[in-house]
Amino acid sequence: MRYEAPDTLQGAVALLAGAKGEARVLAGGTDLLVQMRADLVDPDLIVDIKRIPETRAITEENGSWRIGAAVTGAELKEHPRLKKVWPGVIEAANLIGSTQVQGRATLGGNLCNGSPAADSVPALIAAGAVATLAGPGGRRDLPVEDVMLGPRKLALQKGEIVVSFLLPPRPLRSSDAYLRFIPRTEMDIAVVGAGVSLTLDAGSVITGARVSLGAVAARVLLVPEAAQAIIGSRLDRPAQDRLEAAARAACRPIDDKRGTTEFRTDVAAVLARRTALIALDRARSN
Ligand SMILES: Cc1cc2nc3c(=O)[nH]c(=O)nc-3n(C[C@H](O)[C@H](O)[C@H](O)COP(=O)(O)OP(=O)(O)OC[C@H]3O[C@@H](n4cnc5c(N)ncnc54)[C@H](O)[C@@H]3O)c2cc1C
Repeated sequence: MRYEAPDTLQGAVALLAGAKGEARVLAGGTDLLVQMRADLVDPDLIVDIKRIPETRAITEENGSWRIGAAVTGAELKEHPRLKKVWPGVIEAANLIGSTQVQGRATLGGNLCNGSPAADSVPALIAAGAVATLAGPGGRRDLPVEDVMLGPRKLALQKGEIVVSFLLPPRPLRSSDAYLRFIPRTEMDIAVVGAGVSLTLDAGSVITGARVSLGAVAARVLLVPEAAQAIIGSRLDRPAQDRLEAAARAACRPIDDKRGTTEFRTDVAAVLARRTALIALDRARSN
């Protein structure tokens, strides 16, 4: 097995594009190294992207925030301003594993591992995050909801890597939240995850919403019907009921020992409502 750690994007892309056998990007390694140890993957080439400055930076661009794909959950949490603007994205990233795992685990790795239960992905989708990819054909932008196609299946082409995520500018009275259900208090995979981002007008009426659900289908879902169910409301009880119904209708979960189809569907409805109420409360005070 060959290990390379280039310090430019072009170098990383050239290595991955020219690889003969199986090639993998290495970010924090909290999925990849575990899978290698379990003999689930056996790459011929590993390209460590952590020396590439663009993948490690957090920058503000005209009110938007660009987060490098190899920024860790711990670095996100410690950022002095990001938590105020995107509390849901930060809380989702910091639900990943333990303190030790958060010191390594990255947003890019969480997305590119291709798990429908990945915690940061519903929060990024609710936020309207766009992934910037670099590959042999140049750069392109893809909404995060279009990156994952199914379990372990990504829309990335050979040689392409996720470089960063762009979070859009926040209007006044906007905020977000992420909640997940796990049977324990930590260190577990989401049975259901819900991300909600809201914008309110001066009278606390919802003017913009994005709702995303994790672990209830083969990929993390953006649920526009759930957003439509609450836009124009103050998230009063009838709007909450519509939100629950839309979330429930979107679910196509697996049925396994961690949660039956019925259970996951019920939990998705409840979590969507609770997450929206937290986002609403935060948005009111912004
Ligand atoms: C003890 C433990 C607890 C965990 N708990 C959780 C949890 O609660 N919630 C959760 O969601 N996950 C959890 N995980 C899984 C894992 O920590 C996360 O998915 C993490 O975000 C992966 O990031 P990473 O940087 O370590 O990825 P890596 O392991 O480096 O990479 C993961 C995959 O993505 C690919 N990849 C990485 N970066 C890129 C990129 N920029 N472009 C293209 N491909 C890329 C790699 O080739 C690999 O296939 C846990 C893992 C462990 C070991």
